[in-house]
Amino acid sequence: MDYEAYFSKSIAALKDEGRYRVFADLERQVDNFPTALHRSGPNQAREVTVWCSNDYLGMGQHKAVRAAMHEAIERFGTGAGGTRNIAGTTHEHVLLEEALATLHGKEAALVFTSGYVANETTLSTLGRLLPGCVILSDALNHNSMIEGVRHSRAEKIILKHNDLADAEAKLAALPKDRAKILAFESVYSMDGDIAPIEGYCELAEKYGALTYLDEVHAVGMYGGQGGGVAQRDGVQHRIDIIQGTLGKAFGMVGGYIAGSKATIDFIRSSAPGFIFTTALPPVIAAGARASIEHLMASNKERAAQQDRVAQVKRRLAELEIPVIANPSHIVPVLVGDAAICKQVTDKLLSDFNIYVQPINYPTVPRGTERIRITPGPLHTDEMIDHLVASLDAVWEAFGLPRSREAIVTV
Ligand code: PMP
Repeated sequence: MDYEAYFSKSIAALKDEGRYRVFADLERQVDNFPTALHRSGPNQAREVTVWCSNDYLGMGQHKAVRAAMHEAIERFGTGAGGTRNIAGTTHEHVLLEEALATLHGKEAALVFTSGYVANETTLSTLGRLLPGCVILSDALNHNSMIEGVRHSRAEKIILKHNDLADAEAKLAALPKDRAKILAFESVYSMDGDIAPIEGYCELAEKYGALTYLDEVHAVGMYGGQGGGVAQRDGVQHRIDIIQGTLGKAFGMVGGYIAGSKATIDFIRSSAPGFIFTTALPPVIAAGARASIEHLMASNKERAAQQDRVAQVKRRLAELEIPVIANPSHIVPVLVGDAAICKQVTDKLLSDFNIYVQPINYPTVPRGTERIRITPGPLHTDEMIDHLVASLDAVWEAFGLPRSREAIVTV
């Protein structure tokens, strides 16, 4: 086979479709985020405003987090020195897992190298080892959950998105004593809609299922202490396994699960994605814990984020720029075509110094290509004015459709 020719042809096809991914080279600047230096070539750099970061609350820049990391690196050095089992569990890992258990009101927590690994290895381990297990998985679950289910080789049932009646019908058709996992997210990252968590808890209790909730796009941002939507809704004690990331609102990297002692011990003792890899550096654990502890005590960032989000949604609605309706901090602006979506974001960058990434298939269905905007507490009024005016100008320039009604895709 001519491998080079095959790779080149595949890339050319992606380019034709407007789906070829170009990574923006960004230099985030401490105390200046969400402004960043964008490098587009040798000796070509200029300041842009980042409007699509998943450092949702700016904690990746926070003074207390930086201070904790400086101190940790001076005390403990860089890497962890091994897998968690072989010399890689430092006291910082122990403290971080205690903080995460407290955050979610659970007995125990377990940290992984990413949220992706946490989902993939936990679900694949549960589905593989629970005898006769069937996994009921929401149709819009993240790729990391889909891969976990696939690798478990357990029977899989796809649930209609956020549809309790569909979930009940499918649960009711299974034997009551068969092992089942109900796997879903709280805030869905691309549409920003939120699962009916309490309803799922009721179904799980009625039909004897284990609940597995991905709160990656909610931890730090919802609930009185930033424990997520389950905490906000007063149902976190009814969720068996809460999964989260340290990489988004907490501004670091890493993932975790929280649950009962026995559940966590079982995963700790059997999940390959936990066992066979080097532990996160202690400096990361220290920074993550500082971030978690700050957000458990402070509502300031959450309130400011909600305020910025409401402003952006209201201003775009006034201009009839089509935003997918949702009750979360995610502002998905619908374009509906991959090539145009890319041209729009290119123009926002070149003419208006606004960085947003086009979101295309397979991340979202074809025909629903969009710009995903994530306003945060560090975006100023002037930045919002500039974003809204720039989108208005680009909508005009491309003759894109306007819509009085907020769009509902799901
Ligand atoms: N779950 C969801 C819903 C996600 O969107 C993501 C990442 N975007 C992950 C899990 C993986 O988390 P991480 O980035 O920490 O690997």
